[in-house]
Amino acid sequence: MIAAADVVVVGSGAFGASVAYHLAQRGVRVAVLERAALASQTSPRAAGLSSQVRATPALTKLAQRAVAKLAAFTAETGQTLRFTQSGALKIARTDRDAEQLAREVVRGADAGVPIELVSVAEARRRLPILGERGIVAVTWSPTDCNVEPSELPIGYCRAAEKLGAVLLPHTPATGFDIGPRGVEGVRTPGGTIATRIVVDAAGAWARLIATALGGPLPVVPTRHQLLITEPIAGVGPHFPIARVIDANVYVRHERGGLMLGGYEADPLQVDTSTLSPSFDIANLPLDIEVLWRLARSVREQFPIFEDPGIRVAEHRGGLPTLTTDDRYLVGPLPGVAGAWVMSGCCVGGLSVSPALGEAMAEWILDGAPALDLADVSTARFAGHDVDETDLREHCRRAYATHYRA
Ligand SMILES: Cc1cc2nc3c(=O)[nH]c(=O)nc-3n(C[C@H](O)[C@H](O)[C@H](O)COP(=O)(O)OP(=O)(O)OC[C@H]3O[C@@H](n4cnc5c(N)ncnc54)[C@H](O)[C@@H]3O)c2cc1C
Repeated sequence: MIAAADVVVVGSGAFGASVAYHLAQRGVRVAVLERAALASQTSPRAAGLSSQVRATPALTKLAQRAVAKLAAFTAETGQTLRFTQSGALKIARTDRDAEQLAREVVRGADAGVPIELVSVAEARRRLPILGERGIVAVTWSPTDCNVEPSELPIGYCRAAEKLGAVLLPHTPATGFDIGPRGVEGVRTPGGTIATRIVVDAAGAWARLIATALGGPLPVVPTRHQLLITEPIAGVGPHFPIARVIDANVYVRHERGGLMLGGYEADPLQVDTSTLSPSFDIANLPLDIEVLWRLARSVREQFPIFEDPGIRVAEHRGGLPTLTTDDRYLVGPLPGVAGAWVMSGCCVGGLSVSPALGEAMAEWILDGAPALDLADVSTARFAGHDVDETDLREHCRRAYATHYRA
């Protein structure tokens, strides 16, 4: 156990590992506390998809920066990351969603992200398993990508360690010493680490950590699942990612088979304060029927999932945190000097973590990030009272309409 650190990061998932790496790169003495094995909880279970045209120009810039850093990850950190620039198709089945796609093309053009409307025939040329019925409009984004999710947070952990960060797996933060000037230390079973700065990147447990620090964090851990089929003839890494807006379903290639995931209307929300301290995301109860229902909802576009020969090779899920407006929640924890938070991943934290961790390190060290984080800042909820029922209902709605912008 170490006695002191400039910054203590709680959590070694994509958020914590990235900010730890970017702080260590700036010469900061960082300690990373992790209650379980390093990078073992929600992050390695992600789908690994990115998309760059987002709801606001600032979010689009953040996602663009993240993709550039994912592409350069191995060169920058020396760590392995499977990076596939597969491109992405986004499918509208209603006139309303076709209008959304038209707006996204304009937003992409304004931001310099390649994206265009293509014909159904062109979409089928890129993704031969795509059915031709029920599609009103499709966009093609050639620079969208996917990565192997398990490699990203552990890669950042190892790269941070090489820069001097101290990694402490199986060491939970159990409490905080808060003095008149803010954070003074982080308690662990092995002793207290003196520090003036804590970053709460505790994933599904982030609200509990924020409460222990003394600040509010309006997020709801929400189960999200995907399946990966056994290899299917003709399916390969050249297949683009496909998303169906109204069905909230995504499909991509993985290991010669297909990955399917999506956002159901009534997701399981989990109160992590009721879980045992030894709870591991590997033990989260999953429900594959949720995924088959989503698959049936896109049967015209993906008839392949109706094939009785389809076999599931892997079914996994985790607990991303949702916010009421479906945007990340990062920045200073209101009311607690020296406490920072990286939360509200909204099922999109893995792919954006390279840029978000970099920006958070700048914010902590320089007083402001180079990228504009106002759209995702904790300031937007500061001072608002949280009604628990409303919070859960708004987060449920944000999850259930994730592809609507
Ligand atoms: C099925 C699925 C598909 C997804 N698909 C995508 C996708 O395509 N693209 C994308 O960008 N994102 C995706 N996500 C979301 C992505 O996984 C999350 O946004 C990301 O993993 C969040 O990282 P995190 O660091 O906040 O959480 P985690 O990876 O859970 O890390 C938090 C860590 O904090 C630790 N911790 C908690 N409490 C303490 C404590 N007291 N002391 C010490 N450590 C503590 C935990 O043990 C955990 O390891 C998906 C998620 C799922 C489940």
